[in-house]
Amino acid sequence: MSCSPTELQKKSEEFCSRWQGYVEAPCFEQFIEFAVSASSFTAFLDSKRFSGLHKLCRELEQHALTLFGNENSHPIAEDVLAKLNAQVEGLRARVDSFIDNNTRPIDERRAHHAPEVICDLTPTHRICLIGDQASTWQDLTTQLGYFGILAEAHTWDQLTTATTEPAIVMLDVASMDMDLVCKNLKQLRTRFSATKLISVNLEADFNTFNRTLGAGCDFCFVNATPEVVIMDKLIELCSNEDEPPYRVLVVEDSITASKSIQRTLEASGVESFVINKPQEVLDGLMRVRPDLILMDMFMPGCTGVEAARVIRQHAEFLSTPIIYLSGDTNVPLQVDALRLGGDHFLTKPYNPVVLNAIVKSKIERYRALRRSMVRDSLTGLFNHITAKEKLTQALHAAQAENSALSVAMIDIDHFKQVNDDYGHQSGDHVIRYLAWFLKQRLRKTDLVGRYGGEEFLVVLPGADAEQAITVLERIRQDFSQIRHPFNETWFNTTFSGGVSEFPSHTTGESLIKRADEALYQAKRGGRNCLVQA
Ligand code: GH3
Ligand code: MG
Ligand code: MG
Ligand code: MG
Repeated sequence: MSCSPTELQKKSEEFCSRWQGYVEAPCFEQFIEFAVSASSFTAFLDSKRFSGLHKLCRELEQHALTLFGNENSHPIAEDVLAKLNAQVEGLRARVDSFIDNNTRPIDERRAHHAPEVICDLTPTHRICLIGDQASTWQDLTTQLGYFGILAEAHTWDQLTTATTEPAIVMLDVASMDMDLVCKNLKQLRTRFSATKLISVNLEADFNTFNRTLGAGCDFCFVNATPEVVIMDKLIELCSNEDEPPYRVLVVEDSITASKSIQRTLEASGVESFVINKPQEVLDGLMRVRPDLILMDMFMPGCTGVEAARVIRQHAEFLSTPIIYLSGDTNVPLQVDALRLGGDHFLTKPYNPVVLNAIVKSKIERYRALRRSMVRDSLTGLFNHITAKEKLTQALHAAQAENSALSVAMIDIDHFKQVNDDYGHQSGDHVIRYLAWFLKQRLRKTDLVGRYGGEEFLVVLPGADAEQAITVLERIRQDFSQIRHPFNETWFNTTFSGGVSEFPSHTTGESLIKRADEALYQAKRGGRNCLVQA
């Protein structure tokens, strides 16, 4: 659900360029593309929980949909165009100001650090903590700092002077009057459209929650919520995983129809690939690995239903959603098509906004399902099998590019003792922290998997063992400083690691084996250290 400023900027630019397209050539076709793009941007902002921006964009989208009309409705009247333009510009300005405020501190921090080859330590998110006693945030601020999150503490009085828009504002509303809380929230929401607003120390009743959310708050926490739960939420919101674009395979014999579908999908940022002969669909699936198939119903030599039947014989494409497109409104045919492995039936001519909405919602569910198959549920990291597969893929890439790659096995020290002393739940918490810590501190191109209970597999493409050790060494030192809360007090934990490298070892198995042996040496050498194979 989190989103980097870069991703937001990209989406915003796509959307604005569609509007520009209509302004320059105000015809029906351009308007469709703009409307699709508005709809897509609204859905994006909602999925990323930018509730303030989402509200603005949704109003704009609804306005656009009322103007849809047909070929004869365009160009729209000048005053209507001006109003829509003001909405687009207003939204753009809000997005730009958010992006500006959330990339600048990162650049400033970058300037203070020596350039790092392979460890990106620069904070990616700026958080503002507001409460009566800003000093109580000190500990949280330090802990967040280890995760590369820049937190600033302010008192309620200072709030009005804090001018730049942070990614997250967290408000301590302890013993405050609810009217005042809501007033402050509304003010913040008006000033900061993209910021995620979190209220902590709320009374635990329905009305309080309802009013707080209604005033523009995104997340609520009741009185005495453990700091670790709040920390979990903050880190989750700051985790930087950009989703790759959605991919659709279009199986359609008509070149005109496929071009038009591609244009529609492109307008909302979905990548598409066309196959004009249904007999080539399996090759296409292997090559493209789509998130969804858009299938024409009538094609020479083979119907869409027959093609779907063949596709469903292949285990790896058993759950890939299939949407049929057909000019035929015949109900028995539709029922048959759905029964034989289809997920949806759309009749031509389709409404592009509806087509995009269906495509996106199907893909979202499909990706969520796939995610649960390849990810570990406690940490969200790749699970054992997937991590090994990813290592093999990364190794192939390194071999092809003749570049370095290193592998680290990481294991938490004396973890049995952690479970014994602080309970299994605290143990789980430590595992999750280390997982997030590794994700947050390594590059996006690095791979982190949960290899076993408290063991992690890390793959660093492009890094030799020495570079890997340099990066992991810093992570090791900082991780040992993290305080894990327990009752009124806290405890620290450490980890050990072993590192191996390609091309000294050339298979995934041997890299893991050598890293494991080095890990064993690190344990024998006293733990809380890293050893190169
Ligand atoms: P060493 O420093 O040698 O690694 O000592 P250790 O105590 O960490 O030893 P070992 O790695 O053999 O122990 C791992 C323990 O982690 C055993 C198991 O009970 C515990 N564990 C495994 N998976 C989980 C989990 O998901 N949650 C929790 N809380 N504990 C787990
Ligand atoms: Mg056809
Ligand atoms: Mg272990
Ligand atoms: Mg251990």
